[in-house]
Amino acid sequence: RPAPPTPYLEGLNEQQRAAVEALDGPVLVLAGAGTGKTRVLTTRLAHILATGRARPWEILAVTFTNKAAREMKERVGQIIGEAVEGVPWLGTFHSVSAQILRRHAELAGLKSSFTILDTDDQLRLLKQIIQAENIDEKRWTPRHLASLIDGWKNRGLKPEQLGEEDKWSFAEGRGQGLYTLYQERLQTLNCCDFGDLLLHTLHIFKDNPDVLKIYHDKFRYLLVDEYQDTNVAQYLWLRLLAQGTGNICCVGDDDQSIYGWRGAEVDNILRFEKDFPGAEVIRLERNYRSTAHILGAASGLIAANRSRLGKTLWTEDEAGEKVAVRGIWDGEAEARYVAEEIENWVSSGRAYSGSAVLVRAAWQMRAFEDRFIMLGLPYKVIGGPRFFERAEVRDAHAYLRLVRSPEDDLAFERIVNMPKRGIGDTTVQKIAVTARQMGVPMTEAARVMVGTDEIRGKARTALQVFLRDVERWRDQAGQSRLDELAEIVLDESGYTAMWREDKTPQAAGRLENLKELVRSMGEYDTLEAYLEHVALLTDADRAADEDEVSLMTLHGAKGLEFPLVFLPGWEETVFPSQRSLDEGGTRSLEEERRLAYVGITRARERAIITFTANRMIYGRWQTVIPSRFIDELPMDHVEARSETGYYDGGPGFESVRQQPDAMASSYSSPGWKRYQASQTEGRRSAPPTINAKATLIESGDTNGRWKSGDRVFHDKFGYGTVKKADGAKYTVRFDKAGEKKVVENFLRELP
Ligand code: ATP
Ligand code: MG
Repeated sequence: RPAPPTPYLEGLNEQQRAAVEALDGPVLVLAGAGTGKTRVLTTRLAHILATGRARPWEILAVTFTNKAAREMKERVGQIIGEAVEGVPWLGTFHSVSAQILRRHAELAGLKSSFTILDTDDQLRLLKQIIQAENIDEKRWTPRHLASLIDGWKNRGLKPEQLGEEDKWSFAEGRGQGLYTLYQERLQTLNCCDFGDLLLHTLHIFKDNPDVLKIYHDKFRYLLVDEYQDTNVAQYLWLRLLAQGTGNICCVGDDDQSIYGWRGAEVDNILRFEKDFPGAEVIRLERNYRSTAHILGAASGLIAANRSRLGKTLWTEDEAGEKVAVRGIWDGEAEARYVAEEIENWVSSGRAYSGSAVLVRAAWQMRAFEDRFIMLGLPYKVIGGPRFFERAEVRDAHAYLRLVRSPEDDLAFERIVNMPKRGIGDTTVQKIAVTARQMGVPMTEAARVMVGTDEIRGKARTALQVFLRDVERWRDQAGQSRLDELAEIVLDESGYTAMWREDKTPQAAGRLENLKELVRSMGEYDTLEAYLEHVALLTDADRAADEDEVSLMTLHGAKGLEFPLVFLPGWEETVFPSQRSLDEGGTRSLEEERRLAYVGITRARERAIITFTANRMIYGRWQTVIPSRFIDELPMDHVEARSETGYYDGGPGFESVRQQPDAMASSYSSPGWKRYQASQTEGRRSAPPTINAKATLIESGDTNGRWKSGDRVFHDKFGYGTVKKADGAKYTVRFDKAGEKKVVENFLRELP
C-alpha cells in the first residue's frame, strides 16, 4: 500500500526518527533530560495510528501523571490532524490497572464496583487492625505498617509470598499476619488501596493465562514514559503484557531516577536489553530544551555520580545566561529575592506561568507562599494539601460511596454520625462487632439490629432514619444527574446545614469547597467515573493552567519545563536531605544528586539556585552551609554571588547581615573557597553603600549582650571567641568548629 504522508516526522532528528519508526520488537530510548523522549513517544503513538498499524484501543501507553496522559492525547490529535476520540488505555499505571481490574475484579475476590481507598482510609483501617490485635500502636504505628505493605506491593508480593526477612518485620514478626488480615478486610469491604491496583492485575495475569491472552491480543503496542521510575511490580506487569506482540517501547533516563525511596528500581532500565532480547537501544543526544549553560551545569553536576551509564548531551541553543547561584541570609530573604526576580521577569514582558519554584521538601513552600500572598503575586501550589483530601470533601465522598455500595464500611463509619445524630461510638462499635460476627457489611448489621433491642432509644430512631435515607438516595441515584444527587444527599443528610451553622472561621471555606465539589461532579456521567477520577488524581495533576507561578516539589516537576526555574534551599541537610546524609553510603546521596539534575534540567532559559546561611528548621535557627551540589557545579557555567541587600532597601541590619565577606568567611567548603576566589577576581560588584554600613556595624558592636573579644559557649559548637556582634547575631570563632554565625539565644556565658 502507498506510504501515508508523514509531515510530523520531518521536525525530528535522525535518532528521534529512528525511535519513532522502529515499530517492531522491543525498543529502549535511553537519553538525557530534554532530548525529546516524551516527544518521541507521542509522535510514535501518532505514527502507529496514522499508518494504520493499530487502532486507538489497541495501544497501551503509560505516562507518569494523568495530566501528561491528557497532554499526550491532545498532541497526538494535533499531529495526525484530527481529534482522537479517545485512546482508552492511555494513562498512569494506576489508572490503566484500575480499568483492567474492574473487568476482572472477581478474579481478585472483588466486585467490579470496588472502591479505591486513599491513604487516610488505609491508615484508619490499619489502625483498627493493629488495635484489634492488641499491638501497641504507639510503638508500632499504622504509618509504619502502611509503608511496609506498600513496599511489599511495590515488589509484587502477596502476603504468602513474603521472604524470611520480611516475615520478621513489624511487632516482632507479625507483619505478615497483619498484611494478611488487611487484605482480607479490604476484600470484605470491596475496597483496594493504590498498591492493589497493580498487585491484583499482576496476579490476575500470572494466574489466568486466558485473561492475559485477551490483553496480548488486544494490545498491539506498548509505550512507556519515565521508565527509570518503574517499580518491580510495574516491571513484571509490563513484561507479562509484552510477551504478546513484543512491541514495547520504553523511554527513560537513568540519571532521572528519583523514586527509589518509593520502590522504583533503576535496574529495570539498566537490564532492559537482557529482559527483552533483541531490543534496539536508541540514544538521543541533542537537547532541545535548555541553553548551553544550563545544560553544562546539569551535566557537570551529575558527572559526580558513580553509578550511571553516562551520556553525551549537546545543544545548538545559544549559551544563554549562566546558572545563577545566590547566597542569602535566611529563608525570608530568600523568598523576598525570588519574588522580586519573578516581578522583574514579569515586568520584562514574560508570564508568571513561565516560572516555577522547585523545592526539595514541602515545608520550604510556606515562606514563598507568605511572600507571594503579601505581594498579591499569582501562584499555585502543586501537590499541596489537596482539595480531595479536605475533611468536608472526604465526608461528601463517603456519603456518595455509601449510596453506591452498601458494603463500604469505612464510608459508613465516617458519616453515620456526621452530622451528629445521636448514634454514638458505643453503638457504632456494637454494629461493627455484629457485622463481623455475622460476616455482613455494617449497613446490613445495622438493619438487623434496629429491629432488636440491641440498640435502643434515640440511637435506634436515628439509625432507622439514616438507613431509610440512604435507601432513598440509592433509588434517587438511578434517576438524577450526579451533581443533583450530591446536592440532595448533602442537603437532606443535614451535612450542609452542619457547616452553615458552624461558627468557626473555616466553615465558610468548607461550604465553598462543597459547592465546588458539586460543580465538578457535573462533569461526570456516573458516580463510578467521578470517584475513579478522584481516586487516581496525582499531585502533579494540578499543574497550573492560568497565569500563575508554579510552586512544587522537585519530585513533582518530573517531565515538565519552564523558561525560568528557581531552586531554593541548596543547603546541606535540606538538599541533600538530612535523611540521605544519615543513611550514609552513596545510594541515597546519588538519588539526591539526580533530583538536583532533574531540577536544573527543568529550566529552558534561566536557572537560579539559592542557599541561605541561617535556616529555621523544626522551629530552631540553625546555621547551615551551602549544599555540596553547589561545589559540584562546573564554574564555567555558573555565576555565583552573595546578594547584598539590594532587594531589602530599608535601613537596618538586614543588608549588613548579607554582607558578602562576613558570610563567605563562615564557610570552609571548597565551593565557597572557589566562590570567594571568583569574587576577588572582580566578578562581584557590591553596592558601596553596603560596605559603608558594614563598617559602621563592625565598629559599633556594642548593642548585644557580648562584644568582640568575649569568650562564650555554644551547645553545638563549644567554646569560642566573639569576633563580631550584629544585633542579636554574632560571628564567633569557635575553638574547634571554626568561625560561625550564631544567634544570641544559643550562646551562653562560660560555664
Ligand atoms: P525529560 O527527560 O525532562 O522528560 P524529554 O526527553 O522527555 O525530557 P521532551 O519533553 O520530549 O524531552 O522535549 C523537551 C523539549 O524539546 C520540548 O519542548 C520539546 O517540544 C522539544 N523538542 C524535542 N524534540 C524536538 C525537535 N526535534 N525539534 C524541536 N523541538 C524539540
Ligand atoms: Mg519526558
